[in-house]
Parts: sequence; structure tokens; C-alpha cells
Amino acid sequence: MIQLIKETKDMLLNFYGISEHILHLSECVQREIEGKFEEIDYIKEYNQYKVLKAMQKSKLSDIHFNWTTGYGYNDIGREKIEEIYSYVFNTEDALVRPIIVSGTHALSLCLTGLLRPGDEILSATGKPYDTLEEVIGIRESKGSLKEFGITYKQVDFLENGDPDYINIKQCITDKTKLVLIQRSKGYSWRKSLTIEDIEKIIKIVKSTREDIIVMVDNCYGEFLETKEPTDVGADVMAGSLIKNPGGGLALTGGYIVGKRHLIDLISYRLTSAGVGKECGLTFGTTRTVLQGLFLAPNTVSEAVKGAIFCSRIFEKLGYDVLPSYDDPRSDIIQCINLGSPESVISFCKGIQAAAPVDSFVSPEPWDMPGYDCDVIMAAGAFVQGSSIELSADAPIKPPYNVYFQGGLTFTHSKFGVLKAISQMIYDKNINIT
Ligand SMILES: *Cc1c(COP(=O)(O)O)cnc(C)c1O
Repeated sequence: MIQLIKETKDMLLNFYGISEHILHLSECVQREIEGKFEEIDYIKEYNQYKVLKAMQKSKLSDIHFNWTTGYGYNDIGREKIEEIYSYVFNTEDALVRPIIVSGTHALSLCLTGLLRPGDEILSATGKPYDTLEEVIGIRESKGSLKEFGITYKQVDFLENGDPDYINIKQCITDKTKLVLIQRSKGYSWRKSLTIEDIEKIIKIVKSTREDIIVMVDNCYGEFLETKEPTDVGADVMAGSLIKNPGGGLALTGGYIVGKRHLIDLISYRLTSAGVGKECGLTFGTTRTVLQGLFLAPNTVSEAVKGAIFCSRIFEKLGYDVLPSYDDPRSDIIQCINLGSPESVISFCKGIQAAAPVDSFVSPEPWDMPGYDCDVIMAAGAFVQGSSIELSADAPIKPPYNVYFQGGLTFTHSKFGVLKAISQMIYDKNINIT
């Protein structure tokens, strides 16, 4: 039976200003979603053992937390991290570096490392994440792949949200060098791809032409299921360390895992031709990267629980949500259609007010680099911009969806939701009787 203890209730009511009605609704929702939490704990348990196994197999020791200077030759900590990532993601090789500045950078390195003039990219999952539009040249930009004579095609999702398997096969030509699959929804209203969906796309691509490189944007997807895209045939995959796999502790960085010859090619773009992965400082980040990876299965499970809570409570308040609380989940993102810019801004203000850092500031929409409209981001995080921590963001354009994610603990994630609703009530952007 889920019921708040008296001290908690007093604090939420009297100190944090959450109404009696919202607290009651919250308790009801928590009771409803208990069964889902159990499923999530089973996945967490498996992934925890998987990560531990990788650390033991690689004989991780505290000497690996030291670091080098200058060129960074023979940095055994860096090599250990990359070995551990290879084990966790079941690949031949990996690049895990603080000099990969973001998820976008990791994905961009894969594309620039693997493609040559005349090659074509085929996106099997519709329009890619906003920042990749400029990397590829879908939106005019300087330094895009398009400027280097690399072309691009995409296959949109079907009406029902499934990948268009038939069209994917038909769009593959002699020019197709790489097929891009994005697991998470990004800033779009669509289902996230499950590992099963990804496996199906890979089978179709490989049966059409074995030598096409399948690359997966795994941002926000790590540790949601027991398998990862690389377990079902993806050749190369990338993500951000200030999302899931950093577990909330990594200070910066990105990862790329995959087949050895592909990682090799990408490493020449990361540093330079001939140098590859043999150089590059870790700046003392090896301990937090690995401790973060160790905590990641648990951190991710807490964030997913928060997303489920968010989904159910907003559904009960009458909003369209994606996914619904009992849908399968393959990323930590919860999308809510709030329908107006005012509601989106209120929601984000509430999330910011729930933060441990900068709770007293008010987020505003701004012209963020890489996006084609103003974006509002609420993230009062210990690590700047970290979206495995409690955060919400939204492009300020119709249909005015907000994307909620993260929370290092379920309690904090839930609290964020309660504050967001309270802020919407305060700003008169929601009617609650
Ligand atoms: C966050 C994200 C990216 C880009 O990552 P940044 O670290 O913000 O550059 C790419 N693809 C997807 C699906 C994402 O969610």
C-alpha cells in the first residue's frame, strides 16, 4: 500500500506547496504503476550483472584511475574504459573519450569517419535528431557532409508508427554505404524503436546487401532492455556520457562502439590519420566514467520509473502522452502534448524549481545552436546539460510537446513532475477541480 508518511506529506504540502489534490492523485498513480516497476527492476538486475562482469573480466584495478599528460600514449585507464565498453556492448572495439564533446559529436565522428565522397546515407527511421540535420546537410550549414559530396535519403515511419520495412529495402541502391537507425524518439512524436524493431531493420538491410554499414544512434537507449543494438547486428553505435551510460557521474564525453575496422576508421577522424586512438588525454576522468557506468543500470531504472509516473499522471489529467505508462519502453524519454507554448514554459519552470542546483532561476526559450527554432531547457543539474539528471526540454513550436527525462532517483523524478503540475496550476495553464 503506497501512502506518504506524515512527515513527507507535511513537507510537500507546507514547504513545497504541492496541493492536497495533487498528492492524492500522485498516491493513486503510484499504486497503479507498481507492477511496471517490478519489470524494470528485473532488467536493471541483469544489466547490473552485465556491467560488473565486464569490469571483472577486464581486471579493472585502481591503477586505471591514474592519467597521463601530453600526447597521452599508453594511458592504461583510457584503454581499460574502452575494453570495458566493448564487453558491455558486445563489440570488438570502442572509443570512449572526454574529447568527444557530446552525442552529436560522437555521431558526427562516425559519419565523417566512415563515409567518402559519392557515398549515400539512408536514414531508416525518418528525420534524424535535430542537430544531425546540420551534420548531414539536410539543413544548410557549413562543414556538413553534403559539402563533401555525401548524399542523403530517408524513409519515414508508417502511419501506425512502425518502420516502413518494405520501403527501406527498396531505397537501398549501389550508392548506399550506411543505414542510420535512431532508437529514441528525439524531438518527435513517435514510438521509440525496441531492440526487436532494430533487429528487424538490420536483417532486412543485411539481406539486401551484406556490406552496408548499419549505424545506430543509441542516445537515451542504453540499459532500457537486456540487449543493445550491437547485440542484434548493428555494426557501429554511439551515444553521450551525460545521458544514460554516464550514470549521472560522468562529467562529459561520448562513446562509439562497434566492429574493429570501423572504429579504426573513426579514430582517424577523432585525432588524425595515422594517429587514431593511440593518443588523447583523459584528464583524470577515468574513475567517474567507470563509476558512472557501474551505477548506470540503476540510475536508468530510476529515470524510467519517473517517466512512467509522469506518463500516467498526465494521462489522468487529460493529456496525450507518448509512450503510455504500460507501453514497452526503449528510451527514458516521456513526451507530453501540452498544446500551448505557455504550458510548455510553465512545465519547464516547475522542473527547474525542483532542481538541487539553480532551483531559483527561471528557464527561458533561446536560440540554441543546432536547432531550427527556440528551445527551452530546464536542467538544474550537477553536470551542466546532463539529461540523465532531472530535466525537461521542448522546441517552442507546434504541437507544443514537452520532453521529460531523467532523475538520478525516482523520488526526485516524481518530485519534478509534482512541481511541474503545481507550476502549471499556479500559472493557470491547467484546470484542476
Ligand atoms: C541527445 C540526442 C542526440 C545528441 O546528443 P547531444 O549530446 O545533445 O549532442 C542525438 N540523438 C538523440 C536521439 C538524442 O536524444
